[in-house]
Amino acid sequence: MLELLLPRRCGGCGAPGEHLCGACRRALAQPPQRVSPRTHPHVPTFAFGTYAGAHRGVVLAMKERNNLALRRHLGAVVAAGLEHLEARGEIPAGAGLVPAPTRASSARARGGDPVEAVCRASGRQTWPALALAPRTADQSTLGAEERRANLAGAVRAAFVPAGPVIVVDDVVTTGATLEASVAKLLALGCDVAACVALCAA
Ligand SMILES: [Zn+2]
Repeated sequence: MLELLLPRRCGGCGAPGEHLCGACRRALAQPPQRVSPRTHPHVPTFAFGTYAGAHRGVVLAMKERNNLALRRHLGAVVAAGLEHLEARGEIPAGAGLVPAPTRASSARARGGDPVEAVCRASGRQTWPALALAPRTADQSTLGAEERRANLAGAVRAAFVPAGPVIVVDDVVTTGATLEASVAKLLALGCDVAACVALCAA
């Protein structure tokens, strides 16, 4: 309903008009590049850009409950980026996606997990296998070592996805969430090929 009443704005830069303006589409169309977070997630890790400009804008906007059009577009961005990595031989063809875990409470507040929605919108097989234990503290105020300690043993797997898979998150900061996710999947015998984030902070 709100989408009908409010003027449409670009999710990347806020300009009125489209869900995503031409300049932001071009910024997001850049192929994913290798990144090296401080806590290395055991497997090659890629990001579509840095946490600024269009990338920062869409990450913040995709968390809004009603921004379904933007989530669909980001699904297409992820699909194109993964095809690019396949063509470069960086990831195996046709890998499924595992959304990085969020705290259940924050996913509910956002009207479902936006990262899972983007994974599904990419058209890839999506395995929402991972969750964080209920008492895991909010990561946003913690440093790298504190994040590692906070996440040790906190990632739970509801099932083992059929590999190969790629773990997907919105922002990679210290790498602690991806590292704990990959470690959990590897311990369960899952074939994890890579991690991909929309941006790196
Ligand atoms: Zn824009």
